[in-house]
Amino acid sequence: MTAIEIKNLTKRYGSGPDAVQALDGLDLTVREGEVFGFLGPNGAGKSTTINILLHFIDATDGTATVFGHDVGTESMAVRSKTGVLPEGFEVFDRLTAREHLEWVMDAKGITDDAGAILETVGLSEAADRQTGGFSKGMGQRLALGMALVGDPDLLILDEPSSGLDPTGMQDVRNIILDLAEQGTTVFFSSHILGEVEAVCDRVAILNQGELVALDTIEALQERDGGVESIEVTVEAVPEPAGLNEFNGVQRVSVEEDTVVAVCSDTAAKVDVVRWLDERTTVTDIISEDTSLEELFHRYTGENPATEQQTAGSPETPAQATEGSQ
Ligand code: ATP
Repeated sequence: MTAIEIKNLTKRYGSGPDAVQALDGLDLTVREGEVFGFLGPNGAGKSTTINILLHFIDATDGTATVFGHDVGTESMAVRSKTGVLPEGFEVFDRLTAREHLEWVMDAKGITDDAGAILETVGLSEAADRQTGGFSKGMGQRLALGMALVGDPDLLILDEPSSGLDPTGMQDVRNIILDLAEQGTTVFFSSHILGEVEAVCDRVAILNQGELVALDTIEALQERDGGVESIEVTVEAVPEPAGLNEFNGVQRVSVEEDTVVAVCSDTAAKVDVVRWLDERTTVTDIISEDTSLEELFHRYTGENPATEQQTAGSPETPAQATEGSQ
């Protein structure tokens, strides 16, 4: 069965000359049991799509269904099968972690084992503390716990690792993989491409409200014509502009003492190493397939690393937080 089916989804905010075209005829299918990464630079339309799926906002045109239920006219049925971690979730300071989960249970009209969920998200010790003193990462763990209430068939996670330290990110990854093994469909947006690469079956890349890529990461890499990158660590980085002159060198960047070159063939990689070796001492060489990061750049013209630093600022509907459960 299809978990999510989106057809010609269009969303315009406002009207007249100031209208913002957030989604422009989006078509997307997420299969049941799939871990699906939803990527795109700031303002691409990811949260808008998620907010339509959850009926926080209405689409201007097009349709979307979750397990066959129309998200606009059958939103209660959609909600009963879906757990949500919304973008920018904020805790209710005076409630404890456990009370947050109980609140979700009440809202959904179900019972669940709050203690077990808190253990899953690593909050057992803080279960009965008021959440006002929680760190951002603890709040994010709690938000994930709230999404898990009722063992939903579909989890929609908007930037689940936001605010988490590396251990927290690893925990989220493991939780996602465990759930996927049990058959839960996971649809999540993220700027953290390493996370997406580690857990996703397929990814969609959205840019300016349009789908620009949809496939497994491996298939996107193959389609890319075997483009590879090479990272050369050197004692002193020479001005790298000359590297762009070589045929087959597509992009060059410098990260501290490492020169990274994206090349379309092996000969170009050899040229890069030789050129650097003539000017400085090469201390290390790492050669890799195209990373998801490079694919992201290719399809959107944006760099996810800087995206992440500036993420999270466009205005999103307040309902996304208020009505999230
Ligand atoms: P980010 O990664 O930064 O969260 P996103 O991919 O989730 O971005 P959206 O938040 O869906 O992108 O925004 C898509 C476009 O719609 C942007 O141009 C944004 O400014 C605009 N937009 C979003 N919400 C509103 C709103 N409530 N009113 C007007 N414009 C909006």
